[in-house]
Amino acid sequence: SKPIVAIVGRPNVGKSTLFNVLAGEKISIVQDTPGVTRDRIYADINWLDYNFTLIDTGGIEPESDNIILKSMREQAEIAIETADVILFMTDVRQGMVDDDAKVADMLRRSKKPIVLVVNKVDSFEKFMPDVYEFYNLGLGDPHPISGSSRLGIGDMLDEVVSHF
Ligand code: GDP
Ligand code: MG
Repeated sequence: SKPIVAIVGRPNVGKSTLFNVLAGEKISIVQDTPGVTRDRIYADINWLDYNFTLIDTGGIEPESDNIILKSMREQAEIAIETADVILFMTDVRQGMVDDDAKVADMLRRSKKPIVLVVNKVDSFEKFMPDVYEFYNLGLGDPHPISGSSRLGIGDMLDEVVSHF
């Protein structure tokens, strides 16, 4: 059966935007309000000779009592259990925050291949210096992308399929 790739990360980092770019149509929900995608959403993706199922998990928010965030965390945990490769997305505009480190710990424990993605790098010249701090997450090389500007997506997918 096809490999499963799950996008996980805090609300508002751009998971659904990337999902929609890869799926080629508006399937997932993108909003400025964090936590808007509460259900896992699936798409079949073709990249070169590879086929895989992509899951937009809706986000992870550890140590929150908020019921929506709790529910999203549970969904993400299920996705982590299901996925062959995990796309862990962060946001260069917000920088590395505590929750990123908490999620990174969670993902490291999953023992799954992790592709660390730093999103919202709309200009490599402007934002690359801010990408390097994400090395501190201990998940290997950060992959700069811009979902909305469609930058770095091919290199990111090359890295994803290398784990199949
Ligand atoms: P999610 O909560 O992680 O699914 O994030 P969304 O995909 O809903 O995006 C949250 C916000 O970030 C929206 O306003 C998007 O337009 C914006 N966004 C997503 N990707 C990018 C990007 O590459 N660059 C910039 N500047 N904004 C982005
Ligand atoms: Mg979303």
